[in-house]
Amino acid sequence: MSNNDQTLAIHGGTPVRKEGFAEWPIYDELEEQYLLRVLHSSKWGGVGPVKSDDYSPMIPQAEKKFAELHDADFAVACCNGTVALTIALQAAGVRPGDEVIVPPYTFIATAFGALAYGVIPVFADIDENTLLIDPEAVERAVTPKTRAVIAVHIAGAPADLTKLKEVTTKHGLVLIEDAAQAVGAEWEGRKIGAIGDIGTFSFQSSKNLNSGEGGMIVTNSRELWERVWSIVNVGRIPGGAWYQHELVGQNYRITEFQAAILLAQMTRLEEQMQIRESRTALLDSLLSTIDGISPVPAPEGTTKHAHHLYMLTLDKEFAGRIDKDEFIRRMNAEGIPLAYGYVPLNQNRAILSSIREWTGQERYDACPVCEELCAKRVLWLHQNVLLSDESAIEDIAKAFRKVIASYHVNT
Ligand SMILES: *Cc1c(COP(=O)(O)O)cnc(C)c1O
Repeated sequence: MSNNDQTLAIHGGTPVRKEGFAEWPIYDELEEQYLLRVLHSSKWGGVGPVKSDDYSPMIPQAEKKFAELHDADFAVACCNGTVALTIALQAAGVRPGDEVIVPPYTFIATAFGALAYGVIPVFADIDENTLLIDPEAVERAVTPKTRAVIAVHIAGAPADLTKLKEVTTKHGLVLIEDAAQAVGAEWEGRKIGAIGDIGTFSFQSSKNLNSGEGGMIVTNSRELWERVWSIVNVGRIPGGAWYQHELVGQNYRITEFQAAILLAQMTRLEEQMQIRESRTALLDSLLSTIDGISPVPAPEGTTKHAHHLYMLTLDKEFAGRIDKDEFIRRMNAEGIPLAYGYVPLNQNRAILSSIREWTGQERYDACPVCEELCAKRVLWLHQNVLLSDESAIEDIAKAFRKVIASYHVNT
């Protein structure tokens, strides 16, 4: 290496990578065709008449395809992954004031989706290796008020559904899968989503399936499907009269335009999953030769990882003597979009004050494993990075090697 190569870009050296990474979203004439089909059909919304015999509505097609994709008997589209959680809780009979056990390491929607309906999130710490909710911590968090557990498949790796199911069965709880990051993932050979009682997905623009905004709820229970459908459709019942409202619901529908994009994007999913899988394998093997960082492993029962994020951790000893923010700044200067990731939800002030309002009590669920990992060790790359070519992945490893070496030289 010449001197200039070793000088960090943050100190004026040459960045490892000047080109960007794969663009997101990815689309072509197929999306255009489907969108135009909706436009010219005049059927733009999720309800109302179909005016032409040659138009087959997009929403039911997308629901059917998605249910097949996840080996689920039923799927209902809704406007996003946040309300999907609220709908799932309500449909499963969880009531305001009940408790739901959630991980602290997730997007805030996992807790807000519950609080929006007055359901109280209780935080159970994560497993130090997988960063997924720890089934033993879940069992310790059960109280007489607990009605449900939300298993979040963070980064696209399934939470341990086998052990979680044992806990929920033993205590008579509903198991909800927040699968917003895990489209296409499998646990012990089965598609996630409907392994628990009910599963929720998101098609917000950063997710692996993108319809701009959008969500889906899957289940194998006809009864739950009917309730979900009803809540999404202002309390109407399937096959009922227009002004017959049997449940309190809202208008949580998506538009035909979103379903059109979703249908087109679904045709790309398998190919994109394979690319992410192969880039992940390459990055894993390159990083295995670098001291100081390790990829986050999926739990043992994982038979397919959805790779929404590439998560890695700084090794404990290294993390103990460097600053995570400074490490990220050095990597970003090298042209690598390394990200800080989540902050612990059990410490979020909006959640804590909302819990206080709903319960009239001060509560703080300590999650030391999550708190330490967030502050010191976890790092992310986003899914589109994994759609880049192999030389991009090699540059990521080069940048890690260069930045980590800079600490050994300077400290
Ligand atoms: C994105 C996400 C959600 C929320 O989905 P939206 O469609 O953005 O409302 C919920 N949970 C997790 C884990 C997510 O990543």
